[in-house]
Amino acid sequence: MANQQDHPLQLTNTLTRKKEKFIPLDPPHVGIYVCGPTVYSDVHLGNVRSFLTFDILFRWLTFLGYKVRYVRNITDVGHLVDDIDEGEDKIAKRARMERLEPMEIVQKYTNGFHDVMRLFNILPPSIEPTATGHLIEQIVMIERIIANGYAYVVNGSVYFDVPKYAETHAYGELSGRKIEDQLANTRGTEGQEEKRSPLDFALWKKAEKGHLMHWPSPWGEGFPGWHLECSVMSTKYLGLTFDIHGGGMDLKFPHHECEIAQSVAADGVAPVRYWMHGNMLTVEGRKMAKSEGNGFTPEELVTGNHKLLERGYSPMTVRFFMLQCHYASTLDFSNAALQAAEKGLQRIMAAYDILAKLKPTTEGTAFDVDALVNACNAAMNDDLNTPVMIAHLFDGVRAINGANDGNVALSEADIDQLRILFDDMLFTVMGLMSEAEAKSGDELSSGLMNVLLTLRADAKNRKDFAASDLIRDKLAELGVTVKDTKDGPVWERA
Ligand code: ZN
Repeated sequence: MANQQDHPLQLTNTLTRKKEKFIPLDPPHVGIYVCGPTVYSDVHLGNVRSFLTFDILFRWLTFLGYKVRYVRNITDVGHLVDDIDEGEDKIAKRARMERLEPMEIVQKYTNGFHDVMRLFNILPPSIEPTATGHLIEQIVMIERIIANGYAYVVNGSVYFDVPKYAETHAYGELSGRKIEDQLANTRGTEGQEEKRSPLDFALWKKAEKGHLMHWPSPWGEGFPGWHLECSVMSTKYLGLTFDIHGGGMDLKFPHHECEIAQSVAADGVAPVRYWMHGNMLTVEGRKMAKSEGNGFTPEELVTGNHKLLERGYSPMTVRFFMLQCHYASTLDFSNAALQAAEKGLQRIMAAYDILAKLKPTTEGTAFDVDALVNACNAAMNDDLNTPVMIAHLFDGVRAINGANDGNVALSEADIDQLRILFDDMLFTVMGLMSEAEAKSGDELSSGLMNVLLTLRADAKNRKDFAASDLIRDKLAELGVTVKDTKDGPVWERA
């Protein structure tokens, strides 16, 4: 870890609001937990930015030589409409609207989420656990919280006792919200009369008649509160205290604040050493929101099929565009900025192509490649400062073009070092792909899959089930699952 000695990795810890030297609990192992999507609708562009931020963190830590266990969950139950403890489950509501079983909704939007992650070359996590896959652990954690006196049972529901917890702990330390302000800001108590305090939040909710998703528990049929799953799954896979917890800024309160309280109440220890939060998106200076009519989807951004978009932008242009902004700053979308990013990416990729064929030159001004490598590493170690790292790469681009024109002197060793730097930063660290690579990979696989699925359908029609099963099983070995739906077969890469 040579980079580590010169410029130790610093991350902004949103709990202390300070940039801190990153020291893992058990090096070289690093545990990261990131709140994944609630799979009840198509992924928002804001989600893509958030998952891209933690993709860069994952890639950079791995690049530094750490062994990273990256857990990103799927919320498939318990996230109620309006994020409060009343109302319908988001997934159940969608299931009713689309006339599907809730788990069909979960599968459909999980598949869609994975497609979008692949489109933007966001790496899959090491573990992708689901809330419904961890109900027993959630019930056991609630029992610990009750036993420690921080939760109470009412009519088959269990609530976390915030005032009791706040007597001895700093509830609100992450979001910076004071208890008095939280009380002043609570909405009407309608439907919340079971709670002793409006600040309390549900750990387990009794399933009312007609509620679609419910499981047996010591308190009767019901379902877990939304905040609980992340406390359970993060500590199950990463330990009671782990290194990094990430998510979008909108999750700081109440979701992450509640996670801290649950862990401390159940196990007596703070779960997370470094909290990291990504910032939001704006469009031409206004907050991106469906209600504003400016919330285009990832697909619309790529196809250009939205009234605010002059045309479509390739996934790698979007990725590069997002990385030209620091994760902790708001990112503003405009056609002009996207087009500038597209040009910038083309310039970098053109220089990378020149670099492959560049011959050493002794004419012209000198260029310090060591300093450039150091500057790029230092920028990444400075709280993942991708915009500054990219600005340094453009110094490299100018040197490469200069050498190509005979104005900059680069030795063979310089050129080799530049090749390694560009390979590392563009592809390994930033996760960019050349457009040709992105396209050919995708087109070829979907073309091949169509051929295979047609062969399988033919075999089935002939009642040659041995052949159709063989195709399915061989694909499964490659991590491709095929499901038959009423609209025909669909496939997904694991
Ligand atoms: Zn979460």
